[in-house]
Amino acid sequence: MSQDATPNRPIPITDPTTAPFWAAASRGQLSLPRCGDCDRVHYYPRAVCPHCGSESLAWETLSGRGTIHSWTVSRRPAGAGFKPYVPYVVALIDLEEGARMLSNVRADDIESVAIGQAVVVDFEEMAEDIALPVFRPAD
Ligand SMILES: [Zn+2]
Repeated sequence: MSQDATPNRPIPITDPTTAPFWAAASRGQLSLPRCGDCDRVHYYPRAVCPHCGSESLAWETLSGRGTIHSWTVSRRPAGAGFKPYVPYVVALIDLEEGARMLSNVRADDIESVAIGQAVVVDFEEMAEDIALPVFRPAD
């Protein structure tokens, strides 16, 4: 009896609050809510601005550019579905528009990843209509 020993990587679960984020990602765009009162962009998407409590939010397509605030290398998979991807870089990205986003950095040489490094968004197709925003070093 054969058996697939590696389950698939978990697929993000969308809800009404995050659906625009995932819809934009599936089109190859990074989009986050901007607050109409304090003018700040936030990640992760929420129904209320985490900075001022306003519900006046509008989705904005971002540049996709940022810098690495901090990072680490995961050498042990965060579950069986991540096993094929180790080692991988988990990073906090300071987006050009001001939000700080948790993501992955895909680099040919993970030892070259550094705090302050310029990165750009890229998208990995995970399923039909689901693409995962990840980052790669900027050229
Ligand atoms: Zn606000």
